[in-house]
Amino acid sequence: MSLPPRTPGLHHVSVITGSSAATLRFYTEIFGLKLVKLTVNYDDPFMYHLYFGDERGTPGTLLTCFPAERGQEGRVGRPQPTATALSVPRGSLDYWADRLAREGVDVTRGERFGESLLAFDDGEGQPLELVGIETSERGWGNENVPREHAIRGLYGVTLASASPFQTASVLDALGFDLVGQEGVRVRYRVPGTHGAVVDVLDTELPFGREGIGTVHHVAFRLPDEEALEAWRVLLVEDGLEPTYVKDRTYFRSVYVREPGGVLVELATDGPGFAIDEPVGSLGETLQLPGWLEADREMIGEQLPPLERADEHADEG
Ligand code: ZN
Repeated sequence: MSLPPRTPGLHHVSVITGSSAATLRFYTEIFGLKLVKLTVNYDDPFMYHLYFGDERGTPGTLLTCFPAERGQEGRVGRPQPTATALSVPRGSLDYWADRLAREGVDVTRGERFGESLLAFDDGEGQPLELVGIETSERGWGNENVPREHAIRGLYGVTLASASPFQTASVLDALGFDLVGQEGVRVRYRVPGTHGAVVDVLDTELPFGREGIGTVHHVAFRLPDEEALEAWRVLLVEDGLEPTYVKDRTYFRSVYVREPGGVLVELATDGPGFAIDEPVGSLGETLQLPGWLEADREMIGEQLPPLERADEHADEG
């Protein structure tokens, strides 16, 4: 049997945040990402699911947040992703260091595999990195961050696996190649430009706890539902316990806890974020899947109010 298709890289990373308003502010106003979908957590509809990315929500640029308003603080540790990295042009790192410092964000500069980076958190403990890359991509800008400095997309993630060897074999099957090691950090890569890097820490970190300030899961791209089904079969054959194929409206997904303990999702590129609202107004109104539409009023009343930056600007 032939192996199902390899992944071109990360589709999205989903993290747990605290305050909905603070989440919206940090990822749009400070990071300059676009809110491409305002919806709810399909598994817990009284919680938002906020999708941030480039102006179209291109897979590989997406960072999504579940704001757990009254949730418990998490602890970053094993087995979890321990940081999410996004890419910016190499020459823009000083701009970002200044910008983050002005916002009161405590930034640490670092160097890894010959690339410079900034490490910090989102104000609620979520570990983030901006990695300076060589890029000819023109990028996209908005009133918050000009085009030349804008975040280009996901760079990669760092995983603290409970079994680095087994996690490595999953990455290998997905199409990642081992490209280097620095200390306990082992780097895997696919050829793509967005979300092409996964670092696995070959060390025993203390155990983590899911909650505010931790990553919920990491999703890898697959071309279509056929590939998703093929992967699901392979995962079952390997003795893992993937979910059935879930309809996430904007993509189809299978979730599985890989043998190193990290929750992983496989997600299709399509149908994309323009399926329920025009590209020009992505993220402007609450979108619900058909099966929740009948409860829209009740759900709306339970969700915390969100003041969007652009609405604010219109008033002023
Ligand atoms: Zn996901």
